[in-house]
Amino acid sequence: MSKKVLVLGEVKDNALRNVSFEVIAAAKTISGGAEVTALLIGDDVKGYANELAQYGADRVLVVEDAKLAQYTSDGYSQAFMAAYEQEQPDAIVMGHTAQGKDLSPKIATKIDAGLISDVTSIEGEGDDAVFVRPIYSGKAFEKVKINDGLTFVTVRPNNITPLEKDEGKSADAESVSAEIVDLRSVIKDVVRKSTEGVDLSEAKVIVAGGRGVKGEEGFEPLQELATLLGGAVGASRGACDAEYCDYSLQIGQTGKVVTPDLYFAVGISGAIQHVAGMSNSKIIVAINKDPEAEIFKIADYGIVGDLFDVMPILIEEVKKA
Ligand code: FAD
Repeated sequence: MSKKVLVLGEVKDNALRNVSFEVIAAAKTISGGAEVTALLIGDDVKGYANELAQYGADRVLVVEDAKLAQYTSDGYSQAFMAAYEQEQPDAIVMGHTAQGKDLSPKIATKIDAGLISDVTSIEGEGDDAVFVRPIYSGKAFEKVKINDGLTFVTVRPNNITPLEKDEGKSADAESVSAEIVDLRSVIKDVVRKSTEGVDLSEAKVIVAGGRGVKGEEGFEPLQELATLLGGAVGASRGACDAEYCDYSLQIGQTGKVVTPDLYFAVGISGAIQHVAGMSNSKIIVAINKDPEAEIFKIADYGIVGDLFDVMPILIEEVKKA
């Protein structure tokens, strides 16, 4: 049976986040050929409709309201429910992002649906789709199938490959009317911690530092390498706790979950809570002076040495390449 799928796109800093295209690709796998409808929620988001169509959305819905300029659980769930009630989809896909993690359980409860969260890949298609998700902090994977009722999944960013962009496609944004009322929380101001350059959760290259970098200035070569490779800087909780960097950089069980193509773990021991946030990286390079460090067990490439000797050499080699 084919499934009508509703996906939620995300806009950040006046651009669609990559995860918006990844949820469409996931939806196409689930839909079995049925219509995939993308939904955008915000203040002024209809301008992104064409791009969503170019990545495979058959239709694009928008719920626009000045009260939706910033994400709030209340506001976005009211907006999402308006679209859900209008469309009555058989399946819903959201990103397993900060927003998706907050919104999906709330919606699942409202519509009495089971939720398969943090999906990293999908095996099979349509009704036969089986969802693969990490368990035990990434030590194992489980495969989940929905036998009955609505399919509701969140997909981990950077894991599902978006469809090829088709510049020839376009879509008119269809407005869904929603009454956004009785918001219990209102965002008055957004204070950003300044993190340079690329968004950590979408970066293709991450250079992460741990307590081994020894101080704030120890992050400077990591930033230099990240900039050279067009990537972002991340950190272990050890480094954040030691106040070498901001908690917004923390990767792991209680930080961000990342899946870059290339992950440098620099002066990071490889505690299970850190590994939970980065073990799905495609290639892991560990730099650590302790040859017994746990991080080497999951690294594809390991450099045993003092990071203060290794980093300058690495940076020089990258500059030459
Ligand atoms: P350390 O364990 O101190 O390791 C430092 C490493 O640097 C060592 O391996 C050392 O050999 C190496 N080193 C030192 N000097 C040099 C040098 N000059 N050159 C090369 N290598 C050097 N941690 C996270 O990262 N993310 C989380 O989300 C997270 N969540 C947690 C949740 C809970 C409930 C708990 C209990 C813990 C959590 N932790 C998390 C903490 C985690 O258990 C570790 O304490 C933390 O990851 C250690 O950080 P680290 O590897 O930077 O520091």
